[in-house]
Amino acid sequence: MADLPDFHPEPLPALAAAVADPEGQVRVRFAPSPSGPLHVGNARTALFNWLFARGHDGQFILRIEDTDAARSAVAYEQAIMEDLAWLGLEWDEGPDRGGPASPYRQSDRLAIYRAQAETLLADGVAYPCFCTPERLAAEQELARRNHQPYRYAGTCRAIDPEEAARRRAAGEPCAIRFRTPAGPIAIHDRLRATLTFDAADFGDLVLLKSDGVAAYNFAVVVDDALMGITHVIRGDDHLANTPKQVLLFDALGFPRPDYLHLPPVVGANGRPLAKREGGATLVALRGDGILPAALNQYLATLGWARDDMEIAVDLERLAADFTTAKLSHRAAHHDVARLHHFQKLHLRRLPTDLLARLALPFLQRAGLVATPPAAGERDRVEEIVAALHDEIHHLPDLPEQIDYLFQPPGAEEIRSRLATEPDGRAAIDALATALATTPLTDGDSAAAILKGARRASGLKGRPFFLPVRLALTGRDHGPDLATLLTLLGGDEAITRLRAASAHLPD
Ligand code: GLU
Repeated sequence: MADLPDFHPEPLPALAAAVADPEGQVRVRFAPSPSGPLHVGNARTALFNWLFARGHDGQFILRIEDTDAARSAVAYEQAIMEDLAWLGLEWDEGPDRGGPASPYRQSDRLAIYRAQAETLLADGVAYPCFCTPERLAAEQELARRNHQPYRYAGTCRAIDPEEAARRRAAGEPCAIRFRTPAGPIAIHDRLRATLTFDAADFGDLVLLKSDGVAAYNFAVVVDDALMGITHVIRGDDHLANTPKQVLLFDALGFPRPDYLHLPPVVGANGRPLAKREGGATLVALRGDGILPAALNQYLATLGWARDDMEIAVDLERLAADFTTAKLSHRAAHHDVARLHHFQKLHLRRLPTDLLARLALPFLQRAGLVATPPAAGERDRVEEIVAALHDEIHHLPDLPEQIDYLFQPPGAEEIRSRLATEPDGRAAIDALATALATTPLTDGDSAAAILKGARRASGLKGRPFFLPVRLALTGRDHGPDLATLLTLLGGDEAITRLRAASAHLPD
């Protein structure tokens, strides 16, 4: 600690008053650690904070918690900001845009934590701890062997403050510890009854490590206090930190914020979604063409019972509806089918040109469209998307769903599928003839051609329609035949029908 810069701490309340709104404006924060990509679990936390802020005309603050230098990466910080912006969860203050409580990255706030630790030291609420890492490790090992939770033995608590100051001034390495007051700690959480903890379970907390870096809980509290955070909304995996944090708020002379611990989001195995669980990261979901509006609506259902599951709902609606009274503290299941359901609702109301733009890379990756698209390919994709808009649900499945519009079905496939259709040839030939004699210009003319061909074949219903569809697409289901003919065009349809006919035995 000998290398610490001089500091002149302003009294905390003065600093905080500069940030907090005297009218009691709501200020919430999303405080990710940049040690992995954003996933469904922490995106839900970000969304609920954002909704709460917007619903209360409050402020949403982004704070990057990167005091764990070994696990933090700037690339993750960037990726998290990109994901939040993509979701539309714009922040009012943050590392990139500043704000009255700057800086917003914990690694840029180390001097602030040190200054506040010194204040607690001067007040006698904290003390220097000279215990060596080896000594602490031995204490921990002993606790482990006795199957007891570890807590600091309190060795340096009793050192005379003057002697401690002398040793510190002489450069002896030390941490700064909080003199944790004994007794029960009651915490009010908005989703739960009052929870009671015992300070004896964790003992004297480290505030600053001997290298001068703030311990996690101390940094969080100093930041929440100085940033004027009124409500802490976070995952309930932080519940064990809350009693420690409220004691630190008390020691710093700040009112405790309101707490709301959200239920965990669990995967199929019932375990909380791991940060690196592939499919649940926003990067993976974006790669699957999931729309931000669909993801937001899905995230909103994780712990919030909503009854408008059948309509597409946007962020503004969610913000207007959001109330913590409707939240549950029971674990929420990550349910991909529900996400895809919302995706379907949102894709449906997307303008066709946007859907075509979204679909294009999936078709390119599958080799159905050139990269960059050849002349006319963009228009063709737009034409297909316009015709099939309501049937497009999941973009990664799209190439498989419509590949026959880009390439004819295989001869063998047609042969084997048509083998069980005794009237196949009559149907196919009748349609080829009708197409050759009547121009196919639009959906209406396609319907008329189909009707005429069916009559000419003497067939009714399925025995006519199925072989025709099989000949054109190699499949037994798809868009209605008039749409299909329009999308293929008369010439291509005739070519495919004739090829199919040629494959059939006489
Ligand atoms: N940095 C913590 C995390 O990413 C969040 C801390 C908090 O919300 O208090 O889990």
